[in-house]
Amino acid sequence: MATLGNPKNTIEILNKYEFTFQKKFGQNFLIDNHVLEKIIKAADITKEDFVLEIGPGIGTLTQYLCESAGKVAAVEIDKKLIPILEETLSDYDNVTIINDDILKFDIHSLIRVSNEGRPIKIVANLPYYITTPIIMDLFERHIPLINITIMIQKEVADRIQAKPGSKEYGALSLAVQYYSKPYLAANVPPNCFMPRPKVGSAVINLTPYTKPLYHVEDEKLLFSLIRASFNQRRKTLVNGIYNYEGLSFSKEDIIEALESLEISKDIRGEALSLEEFIKISNYLSQK
Ligand code: SAM
Repeated sequence: MATLGNPKNTIEILNKYEFTFQKKFGQNFLIDNHVLEKIIKAADITKEDFVLEIGPGIGTLTQYLCESAGKVAAVEIDKKLIPILEETLSDYDNVTIINDDILKFDIHSLIRVSNEGRPIKIVANLPYYITTPIIMDLFERHIPLINITIMIQKEVADRIQAKPGSKEYGALSLAVQYYSKPYLAANVPPNCFMPRPKVGSAVINLTPYTKPLYHVEDEKLLFSLIRASFNQRRKTLVNGIYNYEGLSFSKEDIIEALESLEISKDIRGEALSLEEFIKISNYLSQK
């Protein structure tokens, strides 16, 4: 089977199956072999690896994964793509094609059955309409992971890597940096996809921490505090937390926490580091 990472072969297979792109599934297929090679390199795939691909499309990236990994499972929501994948991946006996929604699919049971419970790698050119839910879902479900290598919107990659004080810094930066160490592997322009997205893209690699960076008394409280602080960005941290539905601390409690941690009571959430959020959360968890 010829490689699909170019416009000619992609158009040929799409025409053969009379495939029409579904906007609602965020379908932008890769048509550039250099980008595909960069993804494989960033994920550091070897024959020891079990790789889960989210949204294989017509199998362009999947072919590369099958060549370099031990085993591959590819979960695709669009049932019209399944017969195409069966053809484009017919040369490989180390791939399983699954027709499902990744947000509903039981990844834990796949890992138990197909990889004896050992951690896996995730690789994907993600559908942009659900990038954040997919990333958060993988972390919150505590999937055993070696790393995640994903193509996402450049703007989301910037938010993921942002540091306190920048305009991109927010709840997503803190959540991803709490669970993992992000690094930007490549910037990818719209002409590497068919159809072309309206925005620039980036490949980002996330390596989850095997041991948490900091001790957290109550993870749920930490994430509520983070959401509360960025819910209304222009408010001070004290007002953001005080006004947030679902949290019931008095202003005195919040000010006491900040004073005891030597943080200004006029500070805004956007200026606080992850470590400072955790200290505040651990202090308030005793209230
Ligand atoms: N991997 C292919 C490539 O790089 O050319 C396709 C990438 S395309 C950006 C995203 C793919 O994810 C599409 O094939 C789309 O149908 C699929 N998809 C969208 N939502 C999904 C979901 N909830 N679960 C699984 N796959 C999904």
